[in-house]
Amino acid sequence: MATTRVVASTMKVAQISKPGGDFELVEREVPKPAMGQVRIKVQACGICHSDALTKEGALPGIQYPRVPGHEVVGHIDEVGAGVSAWTLGQRVGVGWHGGQDNTCLSCRRGDFRNCRNVKIPGISYDGGYQQYMLAPVEALAAVPESLNAAEAAPLLCAGITTFNALRHSGAMPSDLVAVQGIGGLGHLGIQFANKFGYKVAAIGRGSENAPVAKKLGAHVYIDSKATNAAEELQKLGGAQVILATAPNSKAMSELINGLGPNGKLMVVGATFDPIEVTPPQLIFGNHTIQGWAAGTPTDSEDTLRFAELTGVRPMIETYPLEQANEGYARMMSGKAQFRVVLTM
Ligand SMILES: [Zn+2]
Ligand SMILES: [Zn+2]
Repeated sequence: MATTRVVASTMKVAQISKPGGDFELVEREVPKPAMGQVRIKVQACGICHSDALTKEGALPGIQYPRVPGHEVVGHIDEVGAGVSAWTLGQRVGVGWHGGQDNTCLSCRRGDFRNCRNVKIPGISYDGGYQQYMLAPVEALAAVPESLNAAEAAPLLCAGITTFNALRHSGAMPSDLVAVQGIGGLGHLGIQFANKFGYKVAAIGRGSENAPVAKKLGAHVYIDSKATNAAEELQKLGGAQVILATAPNSKAMSELINGLGPNGKLMVVGATFDPIEVTPPQLIFGNHTIQGWAAGTPTDSEDTLRFAELTGVRPMIETYPLEQANEGYARMMSGKAQFRVVLTM
């Protein structure tokens, strides 16, 4: 049976016109995909703390007006020239990795994550806070139809970051793995760590997050306000890995003494404050501090497949695109439980 596709000629967009400005809801013409691009009819886009880079103009070279958003889920509704591996109607997502140049030394080594000219949706080009988005094929991840769009969206940044960091951390099943911070990243990190078969210690400030941490799969809850979290980890034998998700460098510094032999502090929460450590803290016990940035679209597909298999899902609060300002403010308040997602 033949079906007719109806594509609107204009679309709603939530854009930032200048650094520090609010979101403006404007109408734009629906764009045409260029060579090597597809157009996505967006279903949902997560609001990530990194969207502040675009909103506040914290990175040099961002061209305004700009549409933020790098946790995008939708369906391909038009395919540009030269695109063979992706089809009309296919469910796709776009995360932090928005494309590579395929020519720099890292790319020639197959290390696309570290491309010298890596593109980021919502920063290098318009992201997902809009009804239709253009994306290069290098940015596309296939998204299973079984996943709810608003729940899949945060898996493309908060999810892949914690999933990928943990699976590359060297921790083995039954190892003690601590997740510092019970927020947008941490609440997914706890779930992944549980499903990976680790003994999971969740570290939060105050006792109020204990019930939700346990519900998400933490075996132990450590209140870093009431106790010395590093000492508590040592009582449990020392952590093989501490996944540091809360953007608080002082709190991360205080946890280093909680590492067990050959233990690793895996840093994914970002502020510009220094982490403090003395050489003996690293030397005695062979300790490591490592950073981790999200991953490539195939890493996103692994994350989504794992979530589909195991039931890992973000806890979300949704806002319609028209309320981008309210949704963003809710995310920035730190009070959201735990990711905010825009629906189109
Ligand atoms: Zn993000
Ligand atoms: Zn490159």
